[in-house]
Amino acid sequence: MLAVRHAHGAACDNSLMKPQEESLGHACAPTVLVIEDDDVIREMVAEHLHGALAAEVGACATLEAALGMPAPDVAVLDLGLPDADGLEALRKLREAMPSALVLVATARGTLAERVEGLRQGADDYVVKPFSLLELEARVQALLRRRAPSPAPEPEELVWDEAARHVLRQGEPLPLTPLEYLVFSALAARPGQAVSRPDLLRLVIGPNFYGYERLIDVHVGHLRHKLDPSEPFRYIATVRGYGYRWDGPQLRREGFGHAR
Ligand code: CA
Repeated sequence: MLAVRHAHGAACDNSLMKPQEESLGHACAPTVLVIEDDDVIREMVAEHLHGALAAEVGACATLEAALGMPAPDVAVLDLGLPDADGLEALRKLREAMPSALVLVATARGTLAERVEGLRQGADDYVVKPFSLLELEARVQALLRRRAPSPAPEPEELVWDEAARHVLRQGEPLPLTPLEYLVFSALAARPGQAVSRPDLLRLVIGPNFYGYERLIDVHVGHLRHKLDPSEPFRYIATVRGYGYRWDGPQLRREGFGHAR
């Protein structure tokens, strides 16, 4: 299959960038459109970008031809085209293809011109003569910008009070009922030291005598379940006193949160 095709002169091959479902095997290939009236440069750039980026590359020599094509991910636009001059070409392309990122490639390289080009909506600028590697790197940077950002990481810990669950990265932790009570007593009071007797009262009730040592065991287990690689990350020991939730204030799902 030939992914690079060239349209010469004013003509343009409209089959260059078909809708994704038709583009055999290229469903995920990025699309690039090279708009350049110099045949040698156009072909060289198109071939190179196709080879280096595995992009589906269309190419044409006039703005008119470009405007008849589907919007690519990135358009490489020469500002010196026979049918559109300079920044006017950029403006028209922008209007017609608002979703495309535009890399302007031109010999007009003074600072004022570059600044004006960026102001007029160019996403990047490369001055002729440019190296193919530089062009490739700039196109690739624009393609990266277009790539959808990865799904956000699930929250580290979520407290689902309705289900009496603690979720770690979306997975419920296998806490025993007592561990869950220890957790909720501490996590409801972030940053606050809770004495051992108070913790016992909260977890077991008024008749907690005899459980003092046991609470330490449960806290130890709980720590390992909350984060096996860093067991002391969430619950700090307050020496001679008790424990303190040192983790973040957790988002609490489920019931009203009066406690
Ligand atoms: Ca030109």
